[in-house]
Amino acid sequence: MQAAAQVTPLETQAVRASMVRKLAGQGIREPQVLAAMEAIERHRFVDSALAGQAYEDTSLPIGLGQTISKPSVVARMLELLVQARAQPLGRVLEIGTGCGYQAAVLSRLACEVYSIERLRGLHEKARENLRALRLANLHLLLGDGMQGYAKGAPYAAIIAAAGGQAIPPAWLEQLAPGGRLVAPVETAAGVQALVVVDHTPGGMRQTVLEGVHFVPLKAGVL
Ligand code: SAH
Repeated sequence: MQAAAQVTPLETQAVRASMVRKLAGQGIREPQVLAAMEAIERHRFVDSALAGQAYEDTSLPIGLGQTISKPSVVARMLELLVQARAQPLGRVLEIGTGCGYQAAVLSRLACEVYSIERLRGLHEKARENLRALRLANLHLLLGDGMQGYAKGAPYAAIIAAAGGQAIPPAWLEQLAPGGRLVAPVETAAGVQALVVVDHTPGGMRQTVLEGVHFVPLKAGVL
């Protein structure tokens, strides 16, 4: 595909439809997730020089050493969040806004989305990328997501786009009963894996899934 900036909206629609067919072929079943990913224009969230790769299943640099997650990983995590739950989800917290792509997809799956980023440069970039979409239920915050965001709690779902050595206690405290958290976490073997935590009547139930490669979760705001 040539640079998306030079193709018509109809053509990028067709490329997104093809991306979504591939995701479905890889096992993504939730119709709401597929529809949201078909709707949001990923090429608008990356540098114009990279727009031609926006619908390939690859992570791409977004500046300040960070990356936008690849579509199959975004789809997998969002499917885990919405699976077997009332849709749309209630309030959702995202840690790691980055360029704002996943936040935009989430805004179509949840009533309210709070997305927090620790790097001012990316927080502002996301605001710029998202302006034209006018997503009234998406709230961008600059802050240390390791503290969660108590003002919006409790959350029906929490999703992290950066991985640490453990799940910060604040996230578990801010997860509503019946809620689900999905995050990359470093396992005992020193490799990152996707972890799901369900807040059940019997307590927090943790499931470790497949290996992943996310940027590190870091404390503090820059
Ligand atoms: N979902 C993003 C992915 C961005 S990469 C997208 O669609 O583009 C992960 C992001 O997490 C990076 O921007 C990084 O700065 C941010 N991050 C890392 N630790 C964080 C923390 N403690 N609080 C908030 N954001 C954090």
